[in-house]
Amino acid sequence: MTTREGSLEAPTRHPLDWHNPEFYDHAALDKELERVYDICHGCRRCVSLCGAFPTLFDLIDESKTGEVDGVAKADYGKVVDQCYLCDVCYMTKCPYVPPHPWNVDFPHLMLRAKAVKFRDGDVKFRDKLLTGTDRLGKLATIPVVVQIVNKANTMPSARKVMQAVLGVDAGARLPPYAPDPLRSHAEPSVAWPVRDGERTPGKVAVFATCYVNYNEPGIGHDLLKLLAHNEIPYRLAEKEACCGMPKLELGDLESVEKLKNVNIPQLAALARDGYAIVTPVPSCTLMYKQELPLLFADDPDVRVVADAMFDPFEYFVARDKDGLLKKDFTQPLGKVSYHIPCHSRVQNVGQKTREALQWVPGTEVNTVERCAGHDGTWGIKEEYFAQSMKIGKPVFARMNENDPDYVSSDCPMAGSRIMQGIGEKSGPPRARKEHPLTLLRIAYGL
Ligand code: SF4
Ligand code: SF4
Repeated sequence: MTTREGSLEAPTRHPLDWHNPEFYDHAALDKELERVYDICHGCRRCVSLCGAFPTLFDLIDESKTGEVDGVAKADYGKVVDQCYLCDVCYMTKCPYVPPHPWNVDFPHLMLRAKAVKFRDGDVKFRDKLLTGTDRLGKLATIPVVVQIVNKANTMPSARKVMQAVLGVDAGARLPPYAPDPLRSHAEPSVAWPVRDGERTPGKVAVFATCYVNYNEPGIGHDLLKLLAHNEIPYRLAEKEACCGMPKLELGDLESVEKLKNVNIPQLAALARDGYAIVTPVPSCTLMYKQELPLLFADDPDVRVVADAMFDPFEYFVARDKDGLLKKDFTQPLGKVSYHIPCHSRVQNVGQKTREALQWVPGTEVNTVERCAGHDGTWGIKEEYFAQSMKIGKPVFARMNENDPDYVSSDCPMAGSRIMQGIGEKSGPPRARKEHPLTLLRIAYGL
């Protein structure tokens, strides 16, 4: 076997063979975990990325043999539980990813282990509840219920009960639900003429996402205002369900498939009709660009959607390269501390948000490219909350450097977590938290 590091070829990713019974075979899974854990033991590059690798290396170092064979198979899951599938180890660190013959795909091996655990029924009620983001959002935004839920989420006594009953840490700030979801209050588009560019379709379908629809619809409204200002006709995707990322993180692949079956046919029709599909939450964009194509490699509709999918700033920067974007900014933004979330980094599109913010005259961008520790629902669970705040600590400090006017992240949940982290260390920050789309809307004076 070769000991060569890295590869001259671009990394490739193999589809997940999750319909194959072998995928769920415990002995086969343990064998693959042992093989990859052994490679990681000899490498150790990823030790600082998350809790999974230190957990693995501690298990090995404290075992009788000091090797992977000294670790009890029953403890393999301790490593899996620490992985929140950010994908950073695969995308930014590992020299042994395919086509290297060692074929290490650590995140997808963790996903397989989570899927086996889920199929075994080894999953908490809390985790099923929290990952049903669409159902939760629909329920929580019913008039009157929304006020009760939001009030309860900020009451220490209610949060203690929630922690005891559901295992949601009382210290984790939860985003409020909005009384008026985006999808029911979106401004209809003007029928601008469609101007296709070399890199960008001239009309946009917005996949609103559960979070933007139910929690921060203002981000969605701002996206629509940016499109309108640039005379790009838009529409919302119809019949939207959750993209499936929370269910993926739980290993519930059957639910991912059900959600895919709701979303993909209508998104594929939009893509074939010439729309760019723009998704304002990085995890959801990544789900369509990368995870669904690897889970459903034979589904042509999934591929069509992946090819039409854009991160919003990827779209705006490409639109600018096409010479079809206005840059008539009227408001300087001052000092912006901008955080790139993991699920933006691993899309491999470069720092498009930073690039766009730097277009705005009178704007200084402090860019922080590191995990903020929230990671979907992982960072609000009582068993991981303290650790997630520890992971985010360097980010909180860097984001608060130089007394910024704005704190901003493409991931709205990471943005909130950063504000919480800054506040706990240094008191309430002077900076306002705004999503980058909101910042661009402010810069245009809209
Ligand atoms: S995917 Fe992210 S959380 Fe999981 S092991 Fe890799 S770096 Fe850690
Ligand atoms: S995932 Fe790759 S880079 Fe990270 S420790 Fe394992 S072998 Fe090394």
